Amino acid sequence: MKNPIKVAFFGECMLELNGTAFGAMQQSYGGDTFNTAVYLSRCGGGAIKTWYATALGDDALSLELEHRWAQDGLALDLVRHIPGRMPGLYQIQVDAQGERRFSFWRDNSAAKAYFDVAETPLEARSEQWDAFYFSGISLAILPADGQNRLLAFARALRNRGATVVFDNNYRPSLWPDIAVARDCFSRALAVADTALITADDHLALFGFASLERAVAAAQELNVFEVVIKRGAAPTLVRSGSGPWHSVPTQTVTNVVDTTAAGDSFAAGYLSRRLRGSTPEDATQFGNRLAARVIAHRGAIIPLDAMADLL
Ligand code: ADP
Repeated sequence: MKNPIKVAFFGECMLELNGTAFGAMQQSYGGDTFNTAVYLSRCGGGAIKTWYATALGDDALSLELEHRWAQDGLALDLVRHIPGRMPGLYQIQVDAQGERRFSFWRDNSAAKAYFDVAETPLEARSEQWDAFYFSGISLAILPADGQNRLLAFARALRNRGATVVFDNNYRPSLWPDIAVARDCFSRALAVADTALITADDHLALFGFASLERAVAAAQELNVFEVVIKRGAAPTLVRSGSGPWHSVPTQTVTNVVDTTAAGDSFAAGYLSRRLRGSTPEDATQFGNRLAARVIAHRGAIIPLDAMADLL
């Protein structure tokens, strides 16, 4: 096994404001692929090195964000700085019933312009990566040219034997229409050799008549390794021509915040799978980590809340 195993992510990490309108707001940051990158860096046991490719601006907030990402354990030499652009921003407001509502300011964020150069740092070092991770949100934020570049990069990596992982996070509001999203996800699934499928998102995107149909369709995907996540219901996993395994999730009596459930599952899964565990064992660890994360507030839980898992 290579040491370290080099994993590159592409996506967007946004600034987070959490609180009540015109009241006190807590600042933080997060994003789906970013959350996975941080948890993977924590769980890799020193054997996995994690790069986060994205773009930021040249403003003070961008520099402070990058400083914090380094403390989170991420390698940052794939980050581009685009003068005049800013990081995206989202606000979480909790209403009187405890429901969380999200508002986004990301239409002109720096990350959208990552591929607006002849060769990105990610592409320039394409020979280096043992694995590459992206999601439906990584694709959604890019213009069509950027999507094409990202998918061509992923295909080239897969063709030379690297592991290409696609997480099917589908957020309808980020897409001009569902047909464009379906086409882009289908192209992503065609270049992936590991697909992490949230059954609910597969259902919403492809419009199956029921969750059972969505799961059955996911089981037919022509992808080497497929993991199907179904919330508290057992997780399904199959690799190559092997059988489907059904791996129970953990019982969580007090679900505090489901943010980053799938993101942390992905990191737990890959932290084991990339180091040679079986798909079943990797899924079991993914379920354990996700169960821990949803029992705490926030996308990235404190390190000491998961110390016994490391
Ligand atoms: P996503 O967060 O991508 O929407 P899911 O809701 O399916 O995906 O959750 C991802 C993972 O988080 C599940 O596979 C499981 O491991 C864990 N999980 C989610 N909800 C629960 C729950 N209520 N109890 C135990 N584990 C859960």
